[in-house]
Amino acid sequence: MTDFTALGVKDIRDGVAGGSFTAREVAESFNAAVEAAASLNAFIVTTPDHALAAADAVDATRAAGKDLGAMAGVPIGMKDLFCTNGVQTTAASHILEGFTPQYESTVSQNLWDAGAGMLGKLNLDQFAMGSSNETSYFGNVSSPWRKEGSNAAMSPGGSSGGSSTAVAARIAPAATGTDTGGSIRQPAAFTGICGIKPTYGRCSRWGVVAFASSLDQAGPMARSVEDCAIMLEAMAGFDPKDSTSLQMDVPNWEAALSADLKGKKVGIPREYRMDGTDEEILKSWEQGKAWLRDAGAEIVDISLPHTKYALPAYYIIAPAEASSNLARYDGVRYGLRDLPEGAGLQDMYAATREEGFGDEVKRRVLIGTYVLSAGFYDAYYNQAQKVRALVARDFENAWAECDLVLAPTTPTASFPLGDKSDDPLAMYLNDVFAVPASLAGLPAMSVPAMLNADGLPLGLQLVGKAFDEQGVLNAGLAIQQRAGFDAKPEKWW
Ligand code: GLN
Repeated sequence: MTDFTALGVKDIRDGVAGGSFTAREVAESFNAAVEAAASLNAFIVTTPDHALAAADAVDATRAAGKDLGAMAGVPIGMKDLFCTNGVQTTAASHILEGFTPQYESTVSQNLWDAGAGMLGKLNLDQFAMGSSNETSYFGNVSSPWRKEGSNAAMSPGGSSGGSSTAVAARIAPAATGTDTGGSIRQPAAFTGICGIKPTYGRCSRWGVVAFASSLDQAGPMARSVEDCAIMLEAMAGFDPKDSTSLQMDVPNWEAALSADLKGKKVGIPREYRMDGTDEEILKSWEQGKAWLRDAGAEIVDISLPHTKYALPAYYIIAPAEASSNLARYDGVRYGLRDLPEGAGLQDMYAATREEGFGDEVKRRVLIGTYVLSAGFYDAYYNQAQKVRALVARDFENAWAECDLVLAPTTPTASFPLGDKSDDPLAMYLNDVFAVPASLAGLPAMSVPAMLNADGLPLGLQLVGKAFDEQGVLNAGLAIQQRAGFDAKPEKWW
C-alpha cells in the first residue's frame, strides 16, 4: 500500500481530482496511520468506515465525470466538540459519554458536503477548557514532539490538542479546531502547524458543544497556510440556525492568496513584551518582523494599552458563559444520569454533575456562577465586559496605523505533561497573547516559525481586522515561505 500520509489537503484534493490516486487509497492510508498511533491518544473514537464511505462517494463522483467538492477525498479529524450524526460526541467529558447526536453540526456538514471524510473524533480538553489537553476524561493527549534528549511526554497544547497532535504526527492531513481564547492557535504553535480562528461569526456554532458562546469560533488546523485557506472556505458560511452567524459571502481565500505584502503595515504591539516571555520567543518575533519586511510590509510600533487586562477579563467572561451553557447537563437530557436510590430531582442533578464533570470544568462553573451572582455581578462580570469593549477599541484604534498585528502566539514553547496541571494560573497564562483577539472577535492565525534550542516548535501570530482573513492568510503565507519550516517530529509512537 502506498503511504499517502505525507500529503496535505491541497495535494490530496488535486491528486484525487487529477486521477494520480483514488480517495479510497488515501483514506486507507490514513486509517492505518490512525490505528498505528493509538499511543498518542489523539482520538476518542475512530470512524474508519466514515472516511472510506466518503472516499468511495468521491471516487464514484469522479468516475461519473461530475464536479468534485473543495475537500474531495480529504479525510480529516473532527474535534469531539462538533456534533456528528450517529457518532458519539463527548466534548471529552464523562457527562456526555454515550451521547450520540441525531444531527450534524453545520461546520461538519459543510465539510462532508465538500467531499471530506472523517477519520474519527479527536480528543480535547474537557468542554474545551484547558491549554494542555490534560483535562480530558479520556486521558491526556501526547504531542508527537519531544525535547531533544528527553523521553518526557509533552503537551500538544489545548484545547484542540488531539487536532494538533493528529496533524503534526501526520495521521490526519487536517483537523477542525475551536478557539474560545486560543485553542486553535496555541496548540498549533506547540506542534509546528498552522491554525486560523476566523472572525467571530464566520463559522456557524450550530451543533458545536458550547463553552463561551460570545467567543467560540471554529477553524481549520493543517500543515500549510494554503490548506487552512481551502478548509476554512469549506467550513465557513452564513447559517440561519446560528443567530450570531455572519450574513456575508465566503470569499475565495485560496484563489486570492498572495505573499506580496507591499503597501501593508504590520503593527508590533509594545504591550506584548511581557515579563516571563522566553528569550527565544522574542527572537522569533524579531525574525518574524524581518520576514514580513522582506515581503514588502512596513513594520510600525503600536500600542494596545489594555492588553494586560484581557486575560483576567477573559477568565471572568468565559466561565460566566460556561456556567450558563453547562447548566443543561443535568442528567435529564444528555449522556450520564446518576440517580441514587430514593433520590429526588435535585439530588440527581447534583450527583450527575459531581460524577460527570471534571475538576477544571467544576472550577469554571463555580467561578462563573460567582461572578454572575447578585452581589458580585457589577464588581466582576460588568467590569469584565467593559474591559472587553476597551480591548476591542484598542484594536480599532490600532487599525488607524496598521493593517495587521504580529505577535508571538504563546509566551513559551510546549511543556511536559504534568508540569502545570497543579497550577491553574500558570496554565491560564498560556493564552495571554491569544485572548485579546478572541475578546475582540478578530481573525487570528498561528504559523510555525522555527524550532527552539530544545528542538520544539515556536509559532508566530497574525491578527487582522474583522473580516480580513485574507490579510491574515497572506501574511501567514509570507512567513511560511521565508521560514521554510519543514521540521517533523521523529516517530516514536
Ligand atoms: N485555554 C483557554 C481556556 O482554558 C482557551 C480555551 C479555548 O480556546 N477553548 O479557557
